Order: sequence, then structure tokens, then C-alpha cells
Amino acid sequence: MIQRSVKQVSVMVRAIEAVAREHEHILIHGVSIDTRTLRQGNLYIPIAGERFNGHDFVEQAIEAGAAAVLWNREEPNPPVGRIPVLLVNDTLSAIQVLAREYRMELPVKVIAITGSNGKTSTKDILASCLSGTFRTQKTFGNLNNHLGVPLTLLALNEDTEVAVVEMGMSGLGEIELLSSLALPDIAIITNIGKAHLGDLGSMENILKAKLEIIHGLKQDGTLYYNGDDPLLSSALRDGQCPVQAITFGMEARNDFHPAAFDMGIEGSSFTIPQYPLTTLTIPLIGQFQLVNALAAIAAASELGVKPAALKSGLAATTLTGMRNEVVHTNRFTLVNDTYKSNPSSAAAALQTLYTFPDNYQKIAVLGDMMDMGDQAVSLHRELGALADGNRLDYLFAYGPLSEHTANCAAERMEAEHVFHYSDKQKMARHIKAILEQDALIWVKASRALKLEEVVAALLEDE
Ligand code: ATP
Ligand code: MG
Repeated sequence: MIQRSVKQVSVMVRAIEAVAREHEHILIHGVSIDTRTLRQGNLYIPIAGERFNGHDFVEQAIEAGAAAVLWNREEPNPPVGRIPVLLVNDTLSAIQVLAREYRMELPVKVIAITGSNGKTSTKDILASCLSGTFRTQKTFGNLNNHLGVPLTLLALNEDTEVAVVEMGMSGLGEIELLSSLALPDIAIITNIGKAHLGDLGSMENILKAKLEIIHGLKQDGTLYYNGDDPLLSSALRDGQCPVQAITFGMEARNDFHPAAFDMGIEGSSFTIPQYPLTTLTIPLIGQFQLVNALAAIAAASELGVKPAALKSGLAATTLTGMRNEVVHTNRFTLVNDTYKSNPSSAAAALQTLYTFPDNYQKIAVLGDMMDMGDQAVSLHRELGALADGNRLDYLFAYGPLSEHTANCAAERMEAEHVFHYSDKQKMARHIKAILEQDALIWVKASRALKLEEVVAALLEDE
């Protein structure tokens, strides 16, 4: 498919050159697929989506100043004579291949990040580590799919030295495609967890899908992977990895691991054997963020970032919203983690709560984890089985599947400290009623549950 598309794009690139010759003054500055954010001089690439077809918005694109437009040759009424129109077989393949061609033109080093959890966090940490040393660009927000990755690549400035590109997937073959567009010099796999289990069916398939990142890795490129992850390490250790590999993780056998560390609500401080004299701090709660930071340190070190720059980059990290956002009020501390949940990241949140001393009143607010396929009920029960009455004061569950979490947790905690709700406002009122001074509340659910409404209710009047 790629081969065919490459041919198609070289035809397209030639067509663009021809257009440029005919229209002496046409210069294309960047691309856009959305007329609401299209900038003067962009190439408009209409994409046919499930709900809207970009071709229907070409008038708006012209009004907004599009320099030219790609057009799926099967779509009616191309705006011929208004602006240059380039006919292609499929605008989606066209944007992908245009991105690949553009990436190949650039001297930029690309770092691609995939994994079940922590892609965006690792991307943000790594870009922060790099930006003091290199002109760095990173994926905007969470634009990590078959459109987001091409858009990220096409948005690279010509003088950008390092690009940090997040790659997500919901099926086999997607990461292979994205990696073949971005042609990474460095690839990172954060972990293999039970995310998108519904789509992929098994952990083996999830592993396989993430390993596809190797597909586009440059021949002398390096793969960085989480050596604590049982699936990754059994697939890749002992010379089984087809490319040069470096590991990171908490365990001492990893190439990058903490020599010593100290974790708190405000984040972690730690040293690594490579830089024993530099105490590094990451202002993000949770051991899993420390592991994400190790991935970032490993990759940044390979590119030559010095310990002092790593230290200041790590300390300056800010995350994309709703991921482990720590909010302090006079009465309590709340972790807003309402962007995403799955068995691995919900377990990581509970484990993090457990590491805090008992003088905190520790409250977990857990909403449904989506896309768990036919294992949904058992996985919600398994999450409840991680509840530990000695290290957790209250568990509030929200959503139909989370009732199973609550039922299972009630067997492991005092039953009157476990509640299930299907009304967010009622749940928030209940939480407020039991709050003690210095409570630590972790609110986590899949995005669809909109538990940020509970966060807003808890923060009201505080
Ligand atoms: P998405 O697939 O939605 O793009 P992502 O992989 O980019 O997700 P992040 O946005 O970085 O992941 O983090 C989402 C949530 O996953 C965080 O709020 C955090 O609770 C959890 N998380 C982050 N890193 C890890 C990790 N290494 N292991 C387990 N959970 C993690
Ligand atoms: Mg992400």
C-alpha cells in the first residue's frame, strides 16, 4: 500500500511543482485538514470522516486563504479555476505519504514513542529534557493516530533538530504504518498493558502491535523499552531484539534505573548510576512517571543532552491536561486523572496511593475502564481485588462496570468504606461529607465517563 502511495505522491509532488510553475506566486506554507484552524497559505487536505466530509468545506477553506487543495478524484465539484486543485486517489493516503516525503527531506532526528500507557507523559518529559539543547518539536496534545502523526510531521519546521512523535493505535498494522511514515532514529516502548484489549483481543496482539514500531526504525536506530515489563522483556531480552536495544525501569538490571529515589506528592527525586552526582527531580506524582522519566533520560542522553540540561528539563516538565494533575486545596489534595483508565494504569494509581503514609486519608474514585471487550467484567473485578483496606481508606466506584470493582473491593476493605454510584453529583456530595483534613483523592476513569465533573464538584467552594 505504501509503495503504491509513494508513487502516487511523487506524481502529486510533481503536480505541485507544475502548479508552482504555472502560478508563479503560489507558495504553500503548511497543511491543514480543518478549515476552522486553516492558516493563510496552507494546502487544504479534505478528509472524509465518519460524520463529516472535508470536501464539503472547501468554500470555507478558500475563504480562509488556502493556497491549494488536494481533492479525492471521486468527489464531485472540485473548485477548479478558484485555487489550484490536485487530484489524488485518496486524500488520507496522500497526507500520509506527503508527510513521509517531507520527513525524508528534513535532517531532523525523530523519536517515536508508543506503549499502552504513558506515551503523552513520556513525550512531554522528553521534549522538556531536549528543549534546552536542541530546537525541539513534539506531537501537539494527543494527535497520535493515522492523521495526527502525518500532521505532526508536516508541522515540523525546517530547522527543527529533534521531533518527539507519539504513536497510538487501536489495531494491528497501525503502528507499522506510522513508523514507516516517521522513520524514527529512536523508538521508545513505554509498556504493554491491557488497553484496547477489546480491539486487539489478546496481550500477545498488543505486544505485537507495539513492536511494529521497529518496522520504520532507521537501520542504526535504537529501541528503548521498559525492561520491567514482563512481555517486553521476554520478547526482547537475550539477543532476541532485532535492533540495538537499551532498557529502562525500576529494576537494577535495566540500563537506566534509579540508584536511589524518594517519592512524594509533588514528584520524585532520584539519581541514576550514569550521573551519580546529579540529583534529578520530576515534578509528577507516581512511580510510573519516574519510569517514564527514565525513558526520556535514556533517549535524551543518547542524543548528547548533558546532566545539567536533563536536570533542568525534567524539573520544568508540564503534562498535557487531565493526566495526573495534582490540585491542592486547604483541605485536601486531588489527583485529576480523568483522561484515561485501564487495568494497568488504574493499578498504577492504586499502588501510588498505597505508597503514601497513613496520616493521609486516602480515597480512590474509580470509574469504568472502557474498551475491555469480553473481559470487561473480570477486569473490573480484578481491579477491585487490588483494594487493600490497610492502605486505602475509601473506594468510590462510578459506572455500570465499576459495580463489579466495588463488590470485589468490599471483600477486602471495610464494606462501609466502599461505595458504588451512578450519579456523579451524589457521589461528590458523599465524598465531601467524609473528607478529613489532608485527604488525598485520586480520581480516575476512562474519558467517556467524564469524571472531571466529579473533580469540578469536589473543587467547588474550596
Ligand atoms: P493515550 O493512549 O490515551 O494517548 P498515553 O499512553 O498517551 O494515553 P498518558 O496520557 O501519558 O498515556 O497517560 C494517561 C494516564 O496513564 C495517566 O494519567 C497515568 O495515570 C497513566 N500512566 C502514565 N504513564 C504510565 C505508566 N508508565 N504506567 C502506567 N500508567 C501510566
Ligand atoms: Mg497519549
